[in-house]
Amino acid sequence: MPGFATRAIHAGQAFDPRTGAVNPPVYQTSTFVQERVGGLREGYEYTRGTNPTRDVLQELVADLEGGAQGLSFASGLAAEDATLRALLAPGDHVLMGNDVYGGTHRLVRKILAPWGLQLSTVEMTDLDAVRAAIRPETRMLWLETPSNPLMKVTDVEAVAALGHEHGLTVVVDNTFASPALQTPIALGADVVVHSATKYLGGHSDVLGGVVVTATEEAGEKIQFLQFAAGAVSAPWEVFLTIRGIKTLALRMERHSSNAAAIARTLVDHPAVERVYYPGLPDHPGHEIAARQMSGFGGMVSLALAGGAAAARRFAESTSLFQLAESLGGVESLVNYPAEMTHASVRGTELEVADNIIRLSTGIEDEADLVTDVQQALERLG
Ligand SMILES: *Cc1c(COP(=O)(O)O)cnc(C)c1O
Repeated sequence: MPGFATRAIHAGQAFDPRTGAVNPPVYQTSTFVQERVGGLREGYEYTRGTNPTRDVLQELVADLEGGAQGLSFASGLAAEDATLRALLAPGDHVLMGNDVYGGTHRLVRKILAPWGLQLSTVEMTDLDAVRAAIRPETRMLWLETPSNPLMKVTDVEAVAALGHEHGLTVVVDNTFASPALQTPIALGADVVVHSATKYLGGHSDVLGGVVVTATEEAGEKIQFLQFAAGAVSAPWEVFLTIRGIKTLALRMERHSSNAAAIARTLVDHPAVERVYYPGLPDHPGHEIAARQMSGFGGMVSLALAGGAAAARRFAESTSLFQLAESLGGVESLVNYPAEMTHASVRGTELEVADNIIRLSTGIEDEADLVTDVQQALERLG
């Protein structure tokens, strides 16, 4: 099999046979002319069901994640919603990590719990705790690794094995690592979900989500929901995502090396109480990360010794690291989770301490990013 960088550029993307165009045409159309009643030309009927541009992205992500089927949605949460509703039924229990994306938790708590889903959360890095939290009605384990924002690392192989002992579907949100660094299906996961808005798209210019399933059977169930509920991605967003993925391998290398440099800078500074980065040898998940990832990624979090005031000050003092939600783009971003990304989970078990800062390290020059972080730390006095 060709390597990852090659597949990111070529999988699912033969040149257009009609014109020789090297890029997939953007089929910006809602419908397709039929030859006779019910006689479809190339199997295409209506874009909510299938669209040739979307097919390219779906094949591409299935290939990169090593799954049977890929499905593309309008956002990460749309992809997650379809996954949960297609694979679970009212009365089922889903066990999630206690550090899943806040929007994922909100989706289940506010939308799917009234529909009948039961939710509880657990420390996913503790296998005994996971085993103890599985109930007779549990059907799914849902985890993120590295997690947001504390960069906890879960052993996917071990959790998948435990889940399968109990007949559960194991879902991994692979947004933070991307398939360039980690492929959960190869480690035993049944389903991978992504916010393609982040590293897959990679340029903070598109919203999208994808699901990749290990089996055709699960893929068909989710595909039915994609068609029947309709949260599909539009052709132009799909094109931008495909275009982003072509440089994913290169970008993740630079994100990782820049993040490692930032982490080293932070570790040595007295204003910093703790640094959360799986590439640091004293990170509790370092060995598992080194085993299951081919790089440690671009996300770094830190706890400031000066508490909430210092964290706010830091977040407002960087200049290259711009203050914004989201992550995974070429530009560096700083986020204050307690009042930004994680404000919606305040008061729940997902609450984040108010001295934590999360950095999404972009692909700018390393020296410039390090200087920016240093000057922001100096301002803390
Ligand atoms: C952003 C994000 C999501 C949600 O994706 P959207 O594209 O914003 O809907 C889900 N999981 C993780 C880990 C994320 O970072």
